[in-house]
Amino acid sequence: MIITMSVQANDEDIERVRKRVEELGYGTKIFRGEKKTVIHVIGVTDREKITKAVEPLPGVENLIPILSPYKLASREFHPENTIISVNGKKIGDRMIAIIAGPCAVESETMMIELACALKEAGAQFLRGGAYKPRSSPYSFQGLGEKGLEILARAREKTGLLVVTEVLSEIDVPLVYKYADVLQIGARNMQNFPLLKTVGRFNKPVLLKRGMSATIEEWLMAAEYILSEGNSNVILCERGIRTFETYTRNTLDISAVPVVKHFSHLPIIIDPSHASGDAKYVNSLAKAGIAAGADGIMVEVHPDPANALSDGKQSLRIETFRELIEEIKRIADAIGRTL
Ligand code: PEP
Ligand code: MN
Repeated sequence: MIITMSVQANDEDIERVRKRVEELGYGTKIFRGEKKTVIHVIGVTDREKITKAVEPLPGVENLIPILSPYKLASREFHPENTIISVNGKKIGDRMIAIIAGPCAVESETMMIELACALKEAGAQFLRGGAYKPRSSPYSFQGLGEKGLEILARAREKTGLLVVTEVLSEIDVPLVYKYADVLQIGARNMQNFPLLKTVGRFNKPVLLKRGMSATIEEWLMAAEYILSEGNSNVILCERGIRTFETYTRNTLDISAVPVVKHFSHLPIIIDPSHASGDAKYVNSLAKAGIAAGADGIMVEVHPDPANALSDGKQSLRIETFRELIEEIKRIADAIGRTL
């Protein structure tokens, strides 16, 4: 059960509720949001007893029974869609978010030129890994802080906001300094210490679905971030492992309406890592948007054949332009904008 406190509730009111709940033998966890505080009551067996004891206390606004294992991520807790503001740009409202860029930051010239072209084509966010989670330790691992500096310069030049992956807890403060959105990759979806760490920072987090994670496990991973006080989580479906081998992963389109049903968090799709092949990316991207996704994240490279990573799935800029034009038409048909 979740107890939401009113905006006017002060520390004394919150403490009184906490004490009362604990006297009844239940555990508590307090989340202090920007506007309101909520108290998660752990292990509720007698809802009526709690309601009777807590409802009349000053500052108590509402008691919400939540049956799912994730609480703050659930739609029962937050019935309206969450709209996340990233330095003035919104993710989760009518506008479809377009995040594009290479798999990895390779050089400053490439990044600036590409960022300018992406901006002109209609992207609002620039992606690019400075720290790469490669399957082989012998593959290109990313430029590290130099890559982050390049991303920051591309933002300065174009106004595109930067989405970049943070691989480990110790890198969070550094990546935080440069990024507008911290990306948690599929391989780290259940890296709980990392999730808790980004949960203590106040920048939006793009949480990719683990390659073998169920939707419930994914929402529980989001809960780790939310429960540390960071309410800005964007989910990203990037394909899951199935028996199919003709694509790198299988894009789980059903995750879009399912997540929308059970959670208030925005969800975007990544058709690049889902398909692993540029020739399928545009079809999947369009399908995701038609299914109700709040945006897409796609890999684009000026010279895919010579990319240092994921060239096969990277779009050329011309193909990206075509995609944007097609998404505009879909957006129009479903009452959204781009
Ligand atoms: C990425 O987006 O750069 C990436 C590595 O993707 P994923 O974590 O989904 O494999
Ligand atoms: Mn990639």
